[in-house]
Amino acid sequence: MRILVATMNAGKLREYERLLADVQGLELETMASLREPVDVVEDRATFVGNALKKATEIAKVAGMPCLADDSGLEVDALGGRPGVYSARYAGEDASDAQNNAKLLDELSDTSDQQRTARFRCAIAVVDESGSELATVDGACEGRIGREPRGTHGFGYDPLFVPDGYTQTMAELGPETKNEISHRAQAAAKLVPFLRQLRTP
Ligand code: IMP
Repeated sequence: MRILVATMNAGKLREYERLLADVQGLELETMASLREPVDVVEDRATFVGNALKKATEIAKVAGMPCLADDSGLEVDALGGRPGVYSARYAGEDASDAQNNAKLLDELSDTSDQQRTARFRCAIAVVDESGSELATVDGACEGRIGREPRGTHGFGYDPLFVPDGYTQTMAELGPETKNEISHRAQAAAKLVPFLRQLRTP
């Protein structure tokens, strides 16, 4: 079974290849194989809404099954923000450093106890005509630190301290992150769905 992964990023493709390695006969491709680029506006209010929209639009153009995800950070003291706006929290073309600085600024008066947060990830898989085959989600609970620490990962990793750890995700590094991350949790839920698809 071939599934297009809605990303141009070879790193993300490799991550999904590893996370879905238990599904035998699954071949994943990136959008780099498409003849024309597909630009999907992520304007839905939820992670799963955005993931489904991306997967559906891209599957229809590509004419093959598609997997798409959407993820971000929810901070309790901010009523769940930045949520689906995580990538553009500090502005349309904001850098990770700018987003992190804004987050620290907004939480400057928030106590350690109230700095709870979670990374969330939704994954949608649709068939070649854009009909939904599966949606799953995963979360990784933690807290927002007081200053950026660590060099691994991306996004809010230098500020996010997962529950059960004292280091940030950016200090823990890829091996631990790949075990506990929101994407890993969601992908683990997807494995049984994909196995079922292969045995009608
Ligand atoms: P996307 O789902 O890849 O578009 O990610 C949206 C945004 O959420 C990213 O730009 C990051 O700011 C944030 N984000 C998502 N996953 C992670 C993660 O694993 N670590 C840190 N930040 C993340």
